Amino acid sequence: MVEEDVPGRLEVIAGPMFAGKSEELLRRVRRAQVAGRRVVVVGHDLDARSGTGRVASHSGLQAPSRTVAHVRDLVDAVPPGTQLLAIDEAQFFGTGLVGLVQHLADDGLTVLVAGLSVTFDARPFSPLPELMALAEDVTRLTAVCGVCGRDAAYHVRLRGDAATVGDARYPVAAHVGGAETYQARCRRHREE
Ligand SMILES: [Zn+2]
Repeated sequence: MVEEDVPGRLEVIAGPMFAGKSEELLRRVRRAQVAGRRVVVVGHDLDARSGTGRVASHSGLQAPSRTVAHVRDLVDAVPPGTQLLAIDEAQFFGTGLVGLVQHLADDGLTVLVAGLSVTFDARPFSPLPELMALAEDVTRLTAVCGVCGRDAAYHVRLRGDAATVGDARYPVAAHVGGAETYQARCRRHREE
């Protein structure tokens, strides 16, 4: 897919909601673009925050993106000659993303993946743990606890009713939401 002598690489940006993961992904995308690298940004079509066709951060950074609904469609979104593939909201793609990302990195691509590493009830959220284990570089971000202001490695769901998207194909769809239904929490306050 790219020059054979260029080794591929997997970089992961992981954390709870509101940790600035998309912001960090878009910062690296911008740097690569300035450096003249051929960059493709991919978002999942469940990410209603950004709307179709772009990835955006809470603070306003954005980049044009290709919207993909299933991991099997991801390869088609990556044209020949791509040097950096940036995937946002990786948790929506499920565990099938792991093998694909490994394949692409083995093939010479730099693959940058950002996503939730933890569910709202404080469990590891696949495929981020697997991707973190396989990556050359992992950036673990925290948010700010909504109760005390300390580092927040978790987020909680404040209301149970509004957050669930009724689509059995996407059991992770409960993580589609904004500040009104989820809040970052530290270890002490994650169960209050
Ligand atoms: Zn706290």
